[in-house]
Amino acid sequence: MTIKQILKDNILKLKLKKIKNLHFDAEILLSTILKKQREFILSHTEYKLTKLQIKNYHALINRRINGEPIAYLTGHKEFYGFDFNVNKNVLIPRPETELIIDEALKFVAHDSQPITIIDVGTGSGCIIITLAKLLEPELKIKNYESGIKKYKLFATDISQKALITARKNAKFYNVNKNIKFLNGDLLEPIIHNFKFIIPNSKILILANLPYVCEAWKKSYSADSIGLKFEPQIALFTGKNGLELYEKLFKQINKLQTKNYKFKNNINILCEFDPNQTTLIKKIIKKYFKNTKLQIKKDLAGYNRLAIIKN
Ligand code: GLN
Repeated sequence: MTIKQILKDNILKLKLKKIKNLHFDAEILLSTILKKQREFILSHTEYKLTKLQIKNYHALINRRINGEPIAYLTGHKEFYGFDFNVNKNVLIPRPETELIIDEALKFVAHDSQPITIIDVGTGSGCIIITLAKLLEPELKIKNYESGIKKYKLFATDISQKALITARKNAKFYNVNKNIKFLNGDLLEPIIHNFKFIIPNSKILILANLPYVCEAWKKSYSADSIGLKFEPQIALFTGKNGLELYEKLFKQINKLQTKNYKFKNNINILCEFDPNQTTLIKKIIKKYFKNTKLQIKKDLAGYNRLAIIKN
């Protein structure tokens, strides 16, 4: 069977099951099986497939028909122009999360004070690794007089399995030595190790924590079926979806009372669902009385990011 024939049959199969990007999906899955670029598929339509390739391709197409996200079938997802390994142990990076990168870059720009950056609940590592790549030239810079580094990067996750993927991605981009990956619940690993933080540095906490409320689990639709395949602990939490943010804010308050250096020094970027805007503002006000709060919209025009600054 040729590429042309197999694509035709399988595009039809995807069409019958109402899969949206059927041409793209059929082609990209075939390129995964053949270990070739999509361009090869499109320009070698008479190329003949082996029996094994046909069998493996049908297996992938069937998984796609069952609603499994394309990123888990190919094992990759693009984020901020970088390619990340993904698997069922990590959430698939979302385009709206690129906003965290834009805002983190704005935060660190033109600042001479050292900055400790902590990505809480790192998953695939896409946020901290992207930042490490974009800040790479500056990561080695030390203050001429004090010898203190300009940046220190940390990432935590409660899931050991997620950290394996994050470390693998960091290694691929050759920034594994620039990021310290720590296993633990939100900021716990840092609370137990103050020494990690650069002395007198600003602290920037980045968080795309699970924020989908548990009730949602019961109402998967054709559009949200893909969520079923993602790690549920990376998506769902509690009644209103903001329980983990509250837990994080409590930890930060604890850090601030335990060590006066953190009192007016912590800045946080957190991603949330547009429906949670009023509630997240209320919660932030409760935990951080004297801070500036800004809400940013994503490219689709929805409230998506809370910026808490001292
Ligand atoms: N934005 C994701 C979704 O709705 C949720 C990500 C998260 O919980 N952090 O699919």
